[in-house]
Amino acid sequence: MAKTPFYHRSALRFECTGCGACCTGSPQDYVAVDRVEQEKIRVWLGISKKWFRRRYILRLGQHTEGLASAEGGSCVFLDQAMRCRIYPVRPRQCRAYPFWPEVLRNRWSWRAEALRCEGIGRGGVVPLRRIETALKATRR
Ligand code: SF4
Ligand code: SF4
Repeated sequence: MAKTPFYHRSALRFECTGCGACCTGSPQDYVAVDRVEQEKIRVWLGISKKWFRRRYILRLGQHTEGLASAEGGSCVFLDQAMRCRIYPVRPRQCRAYPFWPEVLRNRWSWRAEALRCEGIGRGGVVPLRRIETALKATRR
């Protein structure tokens, strides 16, 4: 029988402070972005398909593409003030954070993520429905 996820038994608190830390990382980290999401971002930026793909998209595998990284591994859309330049059209993966499968694996992975995300443990209890919706959004 499948084990009940820990977040069904423990209330999770989260409130984003907008610190931008989740948009930084190593060049090995990437934000997956499908073609529909890419088109939304491209239209938002008002640039050509060719330039958009060349400047912002990384081919990661036969069926996987991600956002390019800036120098140092931060997302290419993170500005100097640590704000997302495409916030209204950011990909599902960004919207779902920190409710990613690997972060919600168990209580220790959730606590460990708090070292990166200062919003974990802050604010009110997140409704279970919101967590499940975010998790679902990460499945492609
Ligand atoms: S698209 Fe925006 S929210 Fe997503 S990683 Fe890049 S800067 Fe952060
Ligand atoms: S690291 Fe956490 S608190 Fe900071 S911007 Fe990302 S989600 Fe918000």
